[in-house]
Amino acid sequence: MNPLSQLPSVDRLLSEPAVASLVDIHGRAIVTQLVRTALAKARDAIRAGAPLPGTARLVADIGADARTQATPKLRPVYNLTGTVLHTNLGRAPLPEEAVAALVAAARSPCALEYDIGSGGRGDRDDVVSDLLCELTGAEAATVVNNNAAAVFLLLNTLAQKKEVIVSRGELVEIGGAFRVPDIMKRAGAKLVEVGTTNRTHLEDFAEALSPRTAMLMKVHASNYTIQGFTHAVPESELANLAHANDLPFVVDLGSGTLTELERWGLPHEPTPRENLAAGADLVTFSGDKLLGGPQAGLLVGRRDLIAKIKKNPLKRALRVGKITLAALEAVLRLYRDPDRLHERLTALGQLTRPQAEIRAAAERLLPVLQAALASLPVDVEIASLKSQIGSGSLPVDRLPSAGFAVRAQGRKGGVLNRIEAALRGLERPVVGRIEDGALLLDLRCLAPDEEPEFAARLSALSRLGASRSLSGGR
Ligand SMILES: *Cc1c(COP(=O)(O)O)cnc(C)c1O
Repeated sequence: MNPLSQLPSVDRLLSEPAVASLVDIHGRAIVTQLVRTALAKARDAIRAGAPLPGTARLVADIGADARTQATPKLRPVYNLTGTVLHTNLGRAPLPEEAVAALVAAARSPCALEYDIGSGGRGDRDDVVSDLLCELTGAEAATVVNNNAAAVFLLLNTLAQKKEVIVSRGELVEIGGAFRVPDIMKRAGAKLVEVGTTNRTHLEDFAEALSPRTAMLMKVHASNYTIQGFTHAVPESELANLAHANDLPFVVDLGSGTLTELERWGLPHEPTPRENLAAGADLVTFSGDKLLGGPQAGLLVGRRDLIAKIKKNPLKRALRVGKITLAALEAVLRLYRDPDRLHERLTALGQLTRPQAEIRAAAERLLPVLQAALASLPVDVEIASLKSQIGSGSLPVDRLPSAGFAVRAQGRKGGVLNRIEAALRGLERPVVGRIEDGALLLDLRCLAPDEEPEFAARLSALSRLGASRSLSGGR
């Protein structure tokens, strides 16, 4: 008898109790589709010589597919990479105040462009512009989708078909897609490079001035440093030169923080307030780097320049939504109380977490990880690690941290890759890093109140460990 004709029908499978309960959870359309796919796969397999699958097997596969399909693509992970502001993992985690504000804004109508005082039309930038001015000393401020958009909009508004003078030492690439020369070109501005990679002087800028010059620009070399025989022109001198020629001086600061980081024992990172005080006319920076807020690009500075930028039709294309503004407003409010900032701003709390506290967490969790990996040929130990800030902030500074180092016994290095993959395969994936032959899990970004759930998820690993998938079948 032809085994193909012995496969159950779609309706027959749909009436299986286990499949019927999937219909209750996921809906008839999705489950019917999964049943058809499962039957098509079974037919292909049979034609290729496989035996007829039992109904129980088909039902189990349909259930597994339903679970996989229902799992959101954008889901929380544990960031144990040691990089706090990890661009691929969404950069700064938001503080509770911001989460509450964005949920409220998402759920209900809100006064986004509505002046509650007069009942007239408002401007969405007003949600945060007063706070931004207070925190940076600027006259005016506006917000767009990210800092790349802020730089683009600034150049397109003020330098289209004109020249922008930048030091050769500052022509940075940030994470592949943002390169200063490329963004200039797309914005319609002509880049005029001056000086050399390591040394640029005021005369280099002065000699490059022409009737076509639109501005002098400084780009904060976020993700690298130049050391040794170097010279950069102080901002105040660039500002003076620009102003003597009736030109604006603008700064792409990248990771702007609004507070003095050295207060928390972190290295100094320039602030927009410092740039403006040194004479910058406009400063752009990111919302989700050291600032610790949502993805956004902030422009602060001279009132007349900000007004021009806001009139550019591209501002409409690059503007932010209410959810971003709600979160940003909440985060900026936290900066008004610097004394408690490290307790309330999640990213700053993670960056300032003392090594001893992280090590204590590692000691609490060590037995859990050891038990989870007990069946595998690996050694698990607590290790002193070095975290980095990430997102191109303070690239050479490292934060003393702690966590686990998992090393293979003997020369079975492949086991680490399998553990790393199994950690990624957990319901809430755990993302670590493999370095110098060890799998490293940096616990800096695991909040103490997340530890019980984290421990429970690690225990799920031991069930995997007993199975062939993790031990490699040997
Ligand atoms: C990060 C960075 C950017 C890009 O900012 P996004 O917010 O990621 O768009 C631009 N310039 C500098 C100097 C940066 O550090």
